[in-house]
Amino acid sequence: MPIENDGVMIILSSPSGAGKTTLVNLLSELDNFQISISHTTRQPRLNEVPNKDYYFVDEAEFQRLIKNQEFLEYAKVFNNFYGSTRTPVINNLNKGKNVLFDIDWQGADQIKNKKLDYKLITFFILPPSKEVLFERLTNRDMKDKLIVDERMKQFDRDVLHWINYDYVVINDDLNKCFQKIQSLINAEIKDGSKDYDKEFIRSHIEKLSS
Ligand code: ADP
Ligand code: 5GP
Repeated sequence: MPIENDGVMIILSSPSGAGKTTLVNLLSELDNFQISISHTTRQPRLNEVPNKDYYFVDEAEFQRLIKNQEFLEYAKVFNNFYGSTRTPVINNLNKGKNVLFDIDWQGADQIKNKKLDYKLITFFILPPSKEVLFERLTNRDMKDKLIVDERMKQFDRDVLHWINYDYVVINDDLNKCFQKIQSLINAEIKDGSKDYDKEFIRSHIEKLSS
């Protein structure tokens, strides 16, 4: 059973480019919210800051962390390894901080299956349409057509995982989406009523998949 003063674990996953990193960064500005900084073997993007956006490590170091069982979860995504180390997460939760994870469905499944003694809330973020997703990926990935094509191809597979999340939220207007997530987190923490329409989400997913 979670202890009342412990923090809450909040996972955001999405098909690449839907906006979860942007949303996690916004949420982290709220009082008492802390991002779990992942380790990755991927190369930094131009705008990324080492030890803030990610701990960038080589494959040997990543394998050492796996061997030492330092990861709460880890996975291979798009040919690179990504993982969340356990100690900082547990320390923050024990201090009453809410910990935000920007991780894929494999990592979300692993954390869910661990059934830790902390409350867990999971969000799956979707774009308003595939056209908008393509635009966002093209802008972010510096017109690297290969990356954009690879991530668009992955979309149809990634979207299937929505079913395993507590809430699916559409990131059209950034601020509205941020407020929606914030209000669902508050409702979960205070056990209040949740403004959530699962049927609307189901029909949005049908449109995205057709
Ligand atoms: P993810 O982490 O899901 O891969 P990002 O947060 O990196 O996605 O967002 C992808 C791109 O889309 C970024 O360039 C980001 O600035 C932009 N973006 C995110 N949310 C919105 C939004 N609601 N409206 C317009 N652009 C957005
Ligand atoms: P990107 O390379 O675009 O930053 O991230 C690619 C994917 O890896 C995203 O779906 C992101 O959520 C996921 N990811 C980032 N960090 C982790 C992590 O620590 N664990 C897992 N399982 N996935 C991660």
